[in-house]
Amino acid sequence: MMNTPLYGAVEGGGTKFVCALGNGPDQIVARTRIDTTGPAETLGRVADFLREASRGYRLAAVGVACFGPLELDERSPAYGTMLETPKPGWSGAPIIAPLRQRLGVPVALDTDVSGAALAEWRWGAAQGCDPALYLTVGTGIGGGAVVGGRPLHGLLHPEMGHIPAPRLAWPDGRPDDFPGVCPFHGNCFEGMASGPALQARLGAPAETAGPEHPVWDLEAGYIASAVATYVLVLSPQRLVAGGGVMQQAHLIDRVRQRLPEVLAGYVKRAEVDAAVERYVVAPHFGQDAGLMGAFALAMNVKGET
Ligand code: ADP
Ligand code: ZN
Repeated sequence: MMNTPLYGAVEGGGTKFVCALGNGPDQIVARTRIDTTGPAETLGRVADFLREASRGYRLAAVGVACFGPLELDERSPAYGTMLETPKPGWSGAPIIAPLRQRLGVPVALDTDVSGAALAEWRWGAAQGCDPALYLTVGTGIGGGAVVGGRPLHGLLHPEMGHIPAPRLAWPDGRPDDFPGVCPFHGNCFEGMASGPALQARLGAPAETAGPEHPVWDLEAGYIASAVATYVLVLSPQRLVAGGGVMQQAHLIDRVRQRLPEVLAGYVKRAEVDAAVERYVVAPHFGQDAGLMGAFALAMNVKGET
């Protein structure tokens, strides 16, 4: 037992940190949920859990798939920290350092959506797809891309939720004049189509709108337009769509219906036309995609694959 290497997986969210110890999705030996408070306290609890749970095993590495924005440029002195975020107390907070110090093992960090993309590519609904994209539509909207088996980074990391959104119309033809909820851009994709945007339009949480509500037609239009942008810019071989809002069971079909209309026959591939139901798919890991991504990040740490 002592020599069995195990990995720590941490999915960091604005409301909770979910932690697991194991050897990938099929072999989880312990799991817990920690409420998100301040960064030092939250990460301290994460480290305590992983240390306790790994007693008697060899903890090889820890992967953290976290909300962002994050500094992921290894050449930056701020590598492994949270960049400026509206989440009180978290701007500038080190994420990697406190875990590495307390656990004494390598710690890999990426965004929650890049992690989810990696897990879906490695074990889930996007196996064999290059690039593979993961999109979450929840409290925020974000996307991660796996290109050549690695999460795509560049200047920063992709911020797929904040692309401009077209002005769409309700099914009755009325223009959608909602100003949007993004504090930076107002009516970007996240500002128009996130869970809080739906809630602001409806005056009630999105989960209370029945499947026949006209808002879903509008929502599918915004999502399909964003997906069309990703298709045109990144040419993914598959897109996995998760997050709380996608739990509306009818929504994915509406998006599949709208996508070929938005692309208007320009991209001549069956995947964005007749075979779209195999192109825009639900996550294999459901709400656990980020946590499984954290395992994938840990298992990718140099020398541990
Ligand atoms: P987070 O983005 O905070 O990690 P989720 O992905 O679960 O969390 O997204 C939460 C958002 O999804 C909330 O805005 C909530 O209103 C919305 N949501 C959750 N379940 C549903 C549902 N069944 N239908 C529509 N919206 C939902
Ligand atoms: Zn925005």
